[in-house]
Amino acid sequence: MDDRSLDRSEAVIAREAAAIGASMKIRFYPFVAGRGEGTHVCDADGNDYLDFIAAGGVLQTGYRHSHVRAAIDAELDRAWSNMHCCYPNERTVELGEELVRRLPGDFEKKAWFGTTGSDANDALFKLVPAATGRPRLISFVGAYHGQTSGSSSLSGHSAQAKVPGAGTVTKVPYPCPYRCTFGPCPPDECSLKCLAFIEEYALGAVSPAEQTAAIIMEPVQSDGGDVVPPDNFIPALRELCDRSGMWLLFDEVKAGMGRTGRFFAFEHAGVEADAVSMGKPLGGGLPLSAVVGRRELLDVDTFALYTLGGSPVPAAAGLAVLEVLRDEALLDNAHRMGARLLDGLRHLQMQHPLIGDVRGKGLMVGIELVVDRETREPATRDAARLVYRCFELGLLVIYCGLLGNVIEMTPPLTIDDSDVDHALSVLDEALADVEAGRFDDTKLARFAGW
Ligand code: PMP
Repeated sequence: MDDRSLDRSEAVIAREAAAIGASMKIRFYPFVAGRGEGTHVCDADGNDYLDFIAAGGVLQTGYRHSHVRAAIDAELDRAWSNMHCCYPNERTVELGEELVRRLPGDFEKKAWFGTTGSDANDALFKLVPAATGRPRLISFVGAYHGQTSGSSSLSGHSAQAKVPGAGTVTKVPYPCPYRCTFGPCPPDECSLKCLAFIEEYALGAVSPAEQTAAIIMEPVQSDGGDVVPPDNFIPALRELCDRSGMWLLFDEVKAGMGRTGRFFAFEHAGVEADAVSMGKPLGGGLPLSAVVGRRELLDVDTFALYTLGGSPVPAAAGLAVLEVLRDEALLDNAHRMGARLLDGLRHLQMQHPLIGDVRGKGLMVGIELVVDRETREPATRDAARLVYRCFELGLLVIYCGLLGNVIEMTPPLTIDDSDVDHALSVLDEALADVEAGRFDDTKLARFAGW
């Protein structure tokens, strides 16, 4: 089935198993990253893959983009590193100004910088209550906001099950049209039921508005299963926040920086955010995160600072990514390629009963696998088989979701028609193999614990 050599990759994996702890790993297949170029990456053995996860939704401009590399080189030559908390550097200031300019809304704004999505959400967790004088927050079941204590308290993802929570965050259902918490109903109704739950249960019973600083939401819930909320949800949530004197925060760590076809994914809803968190692609693949939001939030008299937060080299890379997004019209491309991908996946859905649902916005796309379309029983094992089979066929995708049955695709925004068509043909073949039972489960023993 797979005649490529993986000898060198397997050797690295064996050394890695001995040297590096399990707490920092989620594994899907024996891929060891080698050299990347554009939308493709090789493994340690030189086998080529089309990367439809963009190294975790990080490489908006693909691997080794010449403009981003030039910016990194130039900055390395100049500054290498500094300690932004004690003295500023020009590149990070420039990026802060640019992000502030991009956040919609006629109010005073500022930026904050860290190193990873988790610390950006941790900053929100700490600064928002401090700035508002309200101790409580509301977030969503299925949300993934990070792994530090504050950001994992905000999260409602199964990955957080082993992390002690802080107890001040109330989790409410995310409007998922395919699996509405309140039972099958049309998307608009799912929204209204979730909003009523927030108002009646969260604000009405356990987290009164006068004690609740903000609601934080992923505009598309990614690790929760690439769930796209119905169109009426975010505007109504904004209205509820305004009415209750609460801020509305968006986690744009994965959905932001153009991935959905708008710079910030929440912009599709035509509302304003009081603050957003950013990460992943912000440093062009180097560690950088940000919060952009109301001046009174980011000027609050509380520390949230890290030695390496807002370093000049990642900031220079981030500025270069913004230039490539503009010069290569990558937001438009994300929109067009996303439409082509969704269209192709809907065609595959007609031929493959394993696909229960296809959804996404721009290039943040998920396919939910089910054992039976009527009962919607999650096909969790088939998701693990499918991503492994795609890996064997040269396509990198992963699975996610609270039930582990959603195949996630977050490719570089530079993909073209032929990349999309190639990914679709690999998925077609892999789906056929999994559906026909032509997959040797013993290969998965190491990865899925079977
Ligand atoms: N927020 C979202 C929406 C994410 O998808 C992630 C990572 N999957 C995070 C926050 C945490 O980011 P990081 O892993 O860079 O800390």
